[in-house]
Amino acid sequence: FPSDAIRNFSIIAHIDHGKSTLADRLVEGFLTGTIAKLRKGEQQTLDKLKVERERGITGQYSSNSLFKSKYASFGYLFEGTLKAQTASMFHSYMNKCYMLNLIDTPGHVDFSWEVARSLAACQGALLLVDATQGVQAQTLSVFHVAKEKGLVIVPILNKIDLPAAQPELMAAQMQSTFGVNPSDILHISAKTGKGVEKVLEAIIRRIPPPVSALARNDKRLKAFLFDSSYDKYRGVISLVSIQSGVMQRGDRIQSIATSKRYEVTDLGVMYPEEVPTISLREGQVGWMVCSMKDSAHVGDTLHRVGETVEPMPGFKPTKAMVYAGIFPVDSNDFVKLEESIKRLTLTDRSVTVSRESSTALGQGCRLGFLGTLHMDVFRQRLEDEYNANVIITAPTVPYKVVYGDREVYVSNPTNFPDVTDTSNKVKEVQEPVVKASIIVPEEFLGEMMDLLFAHRAGETDYRYLDDSGASSSRILLTSVMPLSEIVTDFFDKLKSRSSGFASFDYEDAGYKASNLAKMVFLINNKPVDALALIVHRSTEHAVGRAWVKKLHRVIPRQLFEVPIQAAIGKKIVARETLSAMRADVTAGLYGGHHERKLKHLENQKESKRRMKKIGSVDLPQEAFFDILSSK
Ligand code: GDP
Ligand code: MG
Repeated sequence: FPSDAIRNFSIIAHIDHGKSTLADRLVEGFLTGTIAKLRKGEQQTLDKLKVERERGITGQYSSNSLFKSKYASFGYLFEGTLKAQTASMFHSYMNKCYMLNLIDTPGHVDFSWEVARSLAACQGALLLVDATQGVQAQTLSVFHVAKEKGLVIVPILNKIDLPAAQPELMAAQMQSTFGVNPSDILHISAKTGKGVEKVLEAIIRRIPPPVSALARNDKRLKAFLFDSSYDKYRGVISLVSIQSGVMQRGDRIQSIATSKRYEVTDLGVMYPEEVPTISLREGQVGWMVCSMKDSAHVGDTLHRVGETVEPMPGFKPTKAMVYAGIFPVDSNDFVKLEESIKRLTLTDRSVTVSRESSTALGQGCRLGFLGTLHMDVFRQRLEDEYNANVIITAPTVPYKVVYGDREVYVSNPTNFPDVTDTSNKVKEVQEPVVKASIIVPEEFLGEMMDLLFAHRAGETDYRYLDDSGASSSRILLTSVMPLSEIVTDFFDKLKSRSSGFASFDYEDAGYKASNLAKMVFLINNKPVDALALIVHRSTEHAVGRAWVKKLHRVIPRQLFEVPIQAAIGKKIVARETLSAMRADVTAGLYGGHHERKLKHLENQKESKRRMKKIGSVDLPQEAFFDILSSK
């Protein structure tokens, strides 16, 4: 295929705005004969993984409505987290046949690096907006990445068949938000197929072919590895975009990231299923299997052994921003859990793993994630695919502790120094901050400002996205705030306080000095490691009190009086006393919060009897689950 007849593009859209439907329309309409029509009732072509369907990425397949309701309105679910689904299609236009490669992109900035690298394989992007909903925060952030990469943007308003569609208003909103010309906006219905032909025409006419390689007339093989998956029979399958030269079966190739050498054993295009071909040529996008044992380095550049090429720019290791400990409900399951985690990380390299042990929870793993969505999706996968019953500790962010001219990153509160002890010589503590963006109807402005303030946000800017003058007129709020403030229940609050209308996104904004300290909980004067927290000093009393109350509620009474305390350094900031049990009360009574439906505990009845000793206090393991899993 001549590279001037190739178009590489992706679709940028908020959850439920119609990305899968449009992708299906494109693939379906122009692949007659290959997969014919999608069989009725079958999942949409681009939604392949079980977890994805179940998590309700596309409305009609959602079975887990809880998970969906929590995240869907924030666009917190998308195909690309798990596996970007890429497809090639052929279309003839003005008597010429074109190969169109759709490259799937995650829709959320937890995965900004993955967004950047998927977009690096494209020359253009379809910016798809629901004409009844308008622009959402994630769409805006992904758009900025695409713009930075110099991609041609094809703006599209979808769902114009719906009576609630407001194409003129939304077109004005797209103009003011993205700076696009209203006359360039395509009005379509991915559902009925109306206007989809125009989309194909726009892809061919507006998006340039991947000419750079051609122009250089470079015959050396240079392949950009932008995604990978793991198949239990074939091993690692990589998606590559050929920047120059030709890749063929039997080629001896080398990775720039690792210097390791491989032999290409199989390759082809995604059509949309994998179809083997003889070669992949410059400008093309396809799949490739070589003798890679462990997972591929996504973002890597591959070349032929014996030749040298410049690596693709922007390869950087993923940076974990949220850490949590994962422990098996049943401590005998540790080996199985670790094995499951290992297997899952084969398909998701961005998770970092190390071992962690805790006196309260036993042996477990400490995992680093790109963000909270990433953490939740990973946990879901672990539970679904491996039937693992796990408990995850409260998430923490990587803090930076400055001693003189030395800086240490601390991602486990247990390792955080006591800043009130001057002999520790801590000069300063810094925490990661993010630039948060919220898009919300104007009527919720006050609520949002309060929420941001309560979460230690700095000065907040806002501007109107449209000038309809109605109270439903939407505003974009931006503010710098601590990452730690959004890793717990921020989304839930944002959603409830905006009646579900707010969309939210954030990007890394570096580190900022902050008045933080480690809070330790003492049960009968013994510290409990798994419960340590990092708190802002302004909230120490409130946080201490809330946790101490919670502990008081879940810890069963003992034969003696048990003090429960929250301490910062040597200072006790909150205290409750668990009164002694009367002799006639049955031992081992474990109270009120049992009803809380911890699904994994139901089949773990015997663990009720598993006690942990903290000092001389017997604690049922469930007490920990209860404390750690409730907000
Ligand atoms: P995604 O989350 O962006 O992949 O969105 P989907 O493609 O799964 O679509 C979300 C929902 O919107 C589904 O119920 C679709 O049937 C529906 N939908 C998508 N496009 C249109 C359209 O043009 N018109 C109407 N009425 N519904 C649409
Ligand atoms: Mg979808």
